[in-house]
Amino acid sequence: MRNPAVRRALQDIYRQLMAHYGPQRWWPAEAPFEVMVGAILTQSAAWTNVEKAIDNLKKAGALSPKALRELSTEDVAGLIRPSGYYNAKAVKLKAFVQWFGENYGDDLDRMAAQNVDSLRKQLLEVHGIGPETADSIILYATNQPVFVIDAYTRRIISRIGLAPDKDTYDAYQRLFMDNLPADTGLFNEYHALLVRLGKDVCRKRPLCAQCVLNRRCGHHHELPPEIDSQSAQYGILTEDKMIQEKLHE
Ligand code: SF4
Repeated sequence: MRNPAVRRALQDIYRQLMAHYGPQRWWPAEAPFEVMVGAILTQSAAWTNVEKAIDNLKKAGALSPKALRELSTEDVAGLIRPSGYYNAKAVKLKAFVQWFGENYGDDLDRMAAQNVDSLRKQLLEVHGIGPETADSIILYATNQPVFVIDAYTRRIISRIGLAPDKDTYDAYQRLFMDNLPADTGLFNEYHALLVRLGKDVCRKRPLCAQCVLNRRCGHHHELPPEIDSQSAQYGILTEDKMIQEKLHE
């Protein structure tokens, strides 16, 4: 739902993050097909482990739709083992490249020529592709404007106090897409900056004193000031210990 106050808040947050962190220039990949593979492998995985899996695929000459179709599921699983859940992800990768070949002849331009809604619907019908993976492929591989929602985004937005009424992927996505211009570059950088903030300071135990958004964040003001003021100085372990002590007082 459009809301001028939400729009202003989202724009301000973007400006602050961009001013603080600068452009993130995502997705970290050499080619669009690598983006699509990475979007599938990154499900429930740290990116460093995904990089190892992609490196294995490259070294084996298997980072192409045709090569992945020709390999057995077991061989794909062996190559992507570092990314975790490798048997399930091998089945997903095989399903994706089968779909890509049958529907688009492995031609990314043909796939990107689809409108966003139609392509998203098609992707969601492929085994193992959920909304976050589909949207990552659409935004970062086909360069079309769709906002990617992930766990970092949900955590940051809810802590800041902008959470939508429903705690669903679609509701969070509408929050951004109803209140920001449909701009691929903006959506690309905004999502990447939120991931950066989530990894950097808005962790499970947030380091609010170090956060560029702390003046506007509702969650920040919930923390006892003596804990928050020392979190930057002593780091996350000290902060966790202090919170626990506070809770047990
Ligand atoms: S102030 Fe704290 S809770 Fe709020 S966004 Fe920053 S790190 Fe997260």
